[in-house]
Formats: sequence, C-alpha cells, structure tokens
Amino acid sequence: MTRSKAVRIDRNGGPEELKIVEVEVGEPGPGEIRIRHHAVGLNFIDIYQRSGLYGLPVPLQLGMEAAGVVEAVGEGVVHLKAGDRAAYASQPPGAYSELRVMPAKNVCKLPDAISFETGAAMMLKGLTAQYLLKKTLPAEGLQPGDFILFHAAAGGVGLIACQWAKALGLQLIGTAGTDAKCKLALEHGAAHAINYSTENFAERVKEITGGKGVKVVYDSVGKDTFEGSLNCLRPFGLLAIFGNGSGPVPPVNLGVLASKGSLYITRPTLFTHIATRESTQAMADDLFAAVTSGAVKIPIAQRYPLAEVQQAHRDLEARKTTGCTILTL
Ligand code: NDP
Repeated sequence: MTRSKAVRIDRNGGPEELKIVEVEVGEPGPGEIRIRHHAVGLNFIDIYQRSGLYGLPVPLQLGMEAAGVVEAVGEGVVHLKAGDRAAYASQPPGAYSELRVMPAKNVCKLPDAISFETGAAMMLKGLTAQYLLKKTLPAEGLQPGDFILFHAAAGGVGLIACQWAKALGLQLIGTAGTDAKCKLALEHGAAHAINYSTENFAERVKEITGGKGVKVVYDSVGKDTFEGSLNCLRPFGLLAIFGNGSGPVPPVNLGVLASKGSLYITRPTLFTHIATRESTQAMADDLFAAVTSGAVKIPIAQRYPLAEVQQAHRDLEARKTTGCTILTL
C-alpha cells in the first residue's frame, strides 16, 4: 500500500467542501492500472459533481482527467505497461490525486511530443470537441463552409473547438461573456464572435448568416441560452445541448421544434462515445494528430497547485478562467 493526497467531498456543496485527504492506494486488479499523475485537468463537470447536480453518491473523490506515468498494470491489460507515459478522460472520478488505481479502458499512451500538462488539459475537453464536431451530426455531417454556433467559445472546450473547426474549414460563430473573451475566440480561429452579455446573439447569427441560420448549435450554457439557440438554427438544424453552465434546461414542449422548422435536439455525453477501448483510442488518435500537427494548440491559461483546488473551482464557476486549467502536483 502507498499513500496519496486526493481531493474528496464528504457532502455536496460549494468549493469549501473540497478537502485534501490522504488515501491508501493498492495494487491494480484485472483491467486496472496504477498511475502516478504529473498534472490534472480541471473541468466544469467537476463542479456539477461537487454541487450535486449529477447526483453521484458521496463521499466522492473528484477529477476526470489527468496525465502521468503508469506504475503497474493488472491482469488483462495489454495496451499499457509500467513506465508508459499516459493520459485519460475517464469515469469514475478520482483524478484530483497524486496516485490512483483506475480502469485501464480509457487510458491512452501519450505521444512523446505531448507534455504531461498538455495531456492533462486536453483529454476530456479535446475528445469532447472531437465528437461534437465530427460525430454528433448524423447523415452527411458538417461540410467545409458550413456555419456553426458554439457558445462559451473562450472556455476550455470552446478554444479547442474554435481551432479544430477552422482546421475543418467550418465557419464557427463563437459567443462569450466579455469583449476580451470574444477577441480570444477570434484569435483561436472563430470566424465571428458575439458578446452574448451585451448583444442578442440570435439576431446577430441571423445577420452573419444572411438570414439562413446555422446547421448546428453547440450549447453548454443551457438554461440561459436554450431558447435563443433554437432561434439560430436553419430548418432541420441540430441543437446539441452538452452542458449546463447556467443551469439545466427546463422541460420543453416538443411542438416548438416543428414550429421553428423541423429541428433536432440531442443531449450527448463524451462517456457514450468512449464506452469502448477501441472508440476511445480512435478518438484519442485523432486528437493526438490534431495536436502534434499544430492544427490545435491546447490553451492552458491557468495553473493552480492541488492544494488550491478550492480557488480553482471558484474561478471556473465565476467565469474568470479562459481556455484550459490544470492542477499541478
Ligand atoms: P469552460 O471553460 O467553458 O467554462 C464554462 C464557461 O461557461 C464559462 O467560462 C462561461 O463563459 C460560460 N458560462 C455561461 N454562463 C455561465 C454561468 N451562469 N456560470 C458559469 N459559466 C457560465 O468549461 P469546460 O471547458 O470545462 O466545459 C464547457 C462546458 O462543456 C461545460 O458546461 C461542461 O459541462 C460541458 N462539457 C460537456 C461534455 C459532454 O460530453 N457533455 C464534456 C465536456 C464538457 P462566458 O463567460 O464566456 O459566458
């Protein structure tokens, strides 16, 4: 048994519930690995899990994303060995720690060209951008030149999506809460940016698209943007609600989808897309190629020592961060 620092909540609530504790870490069982983290990613989902929005049982160790070195592998694990550099986005939570035992399925070897910090910042957010842009619209998918709307474009998932969309030839219209954040989205490849704190984003989207609307709206803000998002879509357009930054969307009268032009709504989650080892690796390979080619640069804008995890949560929740945030060890 080895000991590790970890971040745990004993009950749901605000950032003050995040406690640094010492836990015992044992040997990996079948299908598991033990990994020593070098850096940990911070994600908005950690806030939903801390607050209780996602209803996970407590006590709970938090954290869904990290990078480090594999120390030991359990029976049946063939894609990793002790000494490998690795990174992951994975359930169950527990990444806010120095060392952990976890399922191996979602852990991928990290290419040598990608640092631990970048690996820790990009797996959950980058794999999310990957499936949103490449796997969420069925049938013909997105084509170069298509307009899409991406809310919270200066955030972690947002700045990765801005760059990737540009590389795919898409015209991403980004929204953000300040002019400075809008500028950041434009610098990362957004074709247009709208400050949704001061402008009516649905009206602006209609102007930008010559009255046509966009093919897909990616909405992680939820309650505050839902109605406006529907008004941005062209007929047969898709609203992908993938988060609840401002709170969950209230129940919807489906008739609204008919009256606004035979629209579609989906509520995707990364964890369906990475349900198997094969799908995880295929998506990770695509992300690693985007990053190592330079098409997508992982924008780490904040670093906090693990001991300052409460402040990290406060800042993310208060919309003070941009791009990706990591916890250092
Ligand atoms: P971000 O860095 O994007 O931070 C969230 C951003 O949301 C804020 O910076 C803020 O930007 C915006 N926001 C708008 N309204 C609010 C509000 N009331 N309170 C707080 N923030 C608000 O976080 P992540 O990159 O970690 O995640 C982005 C979103 O994507 C989250 O909602 C997350 O849960 C979701 N997600 C979903 C996944 C899935 O598979 N379904 C996977 C990964 C992430 P601004 O000030 O510009 O408005």
